[in-house]
Amino acid sequence: MRDMTATPMSFSERYRYILDEIADCCRQAGRDPGEVKLLAVSKTVGDPEISAAIDAGIHSFGENRPDRLQEKALRFPQQSWHFIGNIQSRRISDIVACSHLIHSLYQKHHLLKIDEVAGKLGKVQDVLLEVNVSGEASKSGLRPDVVGDMLAWCADCQNVRVRGLMTMAPQGDLVCARHCFEELAQLRDTLRDNLAPCQAAVFNELSMGMSEDWREAIGAGTTMVRIGRALFDEGFGATLE
Ligand SMILES: *Cc1c(COP(=O)(O)O)cnc(C)c1O
Repeated sequence: MRDMTATPMSFSERYRYILDEIADCCRQAGRDPGEVKLLAVSKTVGDPEISAAIDAGIHSFGENRPDRLQEKALRFPQQSWHFIGNIQSRRISDIVACSHLIHSLYQKHHLLKIDEVAGKLGKVQDVLLEVNVSGEASKSGLRPDVVGDMLAWCADCQNVRVRGLMTMAPQGDLVCARHCFEELAQLRDTLRDNLAPCQAAVFNELSMGMSEDWREAIGAGTTMVRIGRALFDEGFGATLE
């Protein structure tokens, strides 16, 4: 346990600390730390913080607003930019132009538009399907029982490649979060068994776990943790243990 009365950690100290913790959690779960990628959610910070993160060795960033994604991707074109927010039809061209991976696809009409735009840009857009595992009304995403239908539609879209699933767990209850993550992992495995071999081969990712619940996500098999406050917010250290 760190002494939280000590001087706040610098960015690179927080980053190191989180990487060490990820490695520890992986070992405890019998996993290889190389299986878990860290996505730095930079939605609350500006250029100086992003530059500091790049200097510290981070190269994958997540943004939840299309305009910010576009600005930051233009400013830092060498980095890999991920879209993790609410998709709006009229911003799909910008999102597809900038995104290495879209984590938050769950509507069929967005899928069709992404396919069309990606085709025009000559790219194949990697996406994750967002699933509302907990069923909370405040959360977006597909119901678990209809993800299979969405995958079938995706199979007809030549310019879209589904890489896996994403979810957000209910906040404030880590046991519940853990169940939610385990359900998503189970769902990926079940769905993958029924996919055509070419679709199954790339359907491996689980984007789950944020600042407060990424340890639970590692235990449940996450391949991508999306971390904002624990990296960028000095004060968040007070709740790290
Ligand atoms: C903001 C955000 C995160 C990061 O949240 P923190 O709790 O700050 O780590 C992760 N995923 C999504 C979809 C977000 O909007």
